[in-house]
Amino acid sequence: MADKKPSPGPLDSLDAWEDDVLRRYPEGGEGSNKFDKEFRDYDNPARDTVREFYRLNHTQQTLEFAQAKKRGFDKHDRKEMGLWEACEYLNTLIDDSDPDTDLSQIQHLLQTAEAIRADGRPRWFVLTGLIHDLGKIMCLWGEPQWAVVGDTFPVGCKFSDKIVYPEFFDENPDSKDPELSTECGIYEVGCGLDEVTMSWGHDEYMHGIAKDHLPEPALYMIRYHSFYAAHREGAYDHLMNDRDREMFKWVKAFNHYDLYSKADSAPKIRELKPYYQELIGEFFPETVAW
Ligand code: FE
Ligand code: FE
Repeated sequence: MADKKPSPGPLDSLDAWEDDVLRRYPEGGEGSNKFDKEFRDYDNPARDTVREFYRLNHTQQTLEFAQAKKRGFDKHDRKEMGLWEACEYLNTLIDDSDPDTDLSQIQHLLQTAEAIRADGRPRWFVLTGLIHDLGKIMCLWGEPQWAVVGDTFPVGCKFSDKIVYPEFFDENPDSKDPELSTECGIYEVGCGLDEVTMSWGHDEYMHGIAKDHLPEPALYMIRYHSFYAAHREGAYDHLMNDRDREMFKWVKAFNHYDLYSKADSAPKIRELKPYYQELIGEFFPETVAW
């Protein structure tokens, strides 16, 4: 597979959706409702690409699509590389965004990891911060933005109105399918998220890479960090089991570092590299199959 096919838009920058998540959930905010009005300011032209991004995502992320993508990427037949190499590889993703204000991909990874490390968290937690977004390398293989980033949600059952821009699900064929549009759809109450297919994106892809190497809380953080409808809005509790509820405490703890470490000063990549290479070596083999 050829490397570095540009990822089709509509976002100017892959981070534009994350900037938007921050607008929805500002640090110290009292939840999304207070900001909902501002968020839904459809007359603001800056919001149009984000809105279009979610339209594309919500209309095309069907159960069949997510299953097909997972089958394809779970073959891990694209590339052999170590995790630090993957960080540098992801960093070659050049967006149209302003380089003065937007941090590179590797800086976001290092800032997240450094914030976790500064809080004295376990080493696997720090490593999770470093690698959680590496699944975004799918953009370098030509995957459209809407199949790489954005809020994730279960497919195969009713789409919650707690998901951002829920109105766009009206155009998703699954929402017209009687089997896939009931509260539980193809799942059972309390079946546990491991049974549930999530919309396809960098979370699920990276979970497939990390699953044999990190402890369970780390795998939950990686797999569900963009599942805002659940970890911020409390939706989809009916699909969870007690294990999921327990583990989502970790997902919430992680989300704080993911969202709110961004304003800190730029980390010095070259100085930090030896520490992180050693940390990677503690949990992962020299190279892994992507
Ligand atoms: Fe992410
Ligand atoms: Fe992130």
